[in-house]
Amino acid sequence: MSNLNFNLLTLFPEMFPGMVGQSLAGKALERRDWSYNAVNIRDFGDGAHKNVDDTPYGGGAGMVMRADVVEAALLSVPKSGKKIYLSPRGKVFNQAMARELSQESNITMLCGRYEGVDQRVLDAHEFEEVSIGDYVLSGGEPAAMIMMDAIIRLLPGVMGNEDTADNESFGSATGGLLEYPHYTRPAQWKDANGSAHSVPEILTGGDHAKVARWRQEQSLALTTLRRPDLLKK
Ligand code: SAM
Repeated sequence: MSNLNFNLLTLFPEMFPGMVGQSLAGKALERRDWSYNAVNIRDFGDGAHKNVDDTPYGGGAGMVMRADVVEAALLSVPKSGKKIYLSPRGKVFNQAMARELSQESNITMLCGRYEGVDQRVLDAHEFEEVSIGDYVLSGGEPAAMIMMDAIIRLLPGVMGNEDTADNESFGSATGGLLEYPHYTRPAQWKDANGSAHSVPEILTGGDHAKVARWRQEQSLALTTLRRPDLLKK
């Protein structure tokens, strides 16, 4: 039984739990395997208008989230634990990071909007910057949910079968490679154009050692073709 709590610093608290409130993660939330606390940064805004942003020093387009406002939102959290700022400039999120983060008890995720957040609050509170890929989203909330999904499914009991994650792409049993292709019934299938497709014979022969070898070969071939960078690791 794990008790991982996510503190989500956001201007859109109503976006949560969003997709992580469904399916496996949703059931785990109901079981209290994990919890979340969505903090509305706007509640800590300045003045009657609850301002959270201002123009960037040095000029340029857009607005920047204020350090004092973000800090007040952060300090409202009882146990911040590991602090992450979702950012395209960050270290790119991967399965190894998901595994590490699934061991934490508290994770605070700061979801940026506009041009981002005043650098001083990130430095002062030692936020680690994490990106979900080389593209720019309009806000950190979808990125936070993607990270949460990858982390939550690794919590004990969430996937049912504890071995599943090891056997998947990037898992220890797959040697960190991409996973082999899957097939299920019917064994013979005709697509909408009338072309027939059968299942690779080796998978229906009942020889487990041969199946395991075939899967390893497929895994290696796919990784060589699509992600040669993983082989170097
Ligand atoms: N001006 C920023 C830059 O060029 O790096 C982009 C700001 S983006 C429009 C607004 C917010 O979305 C960011 O502060 C961040 O929280 C989030 N975001 C955008 N792309 C992301 C990514 N690839 N990974 C994680 N968060 C992202």
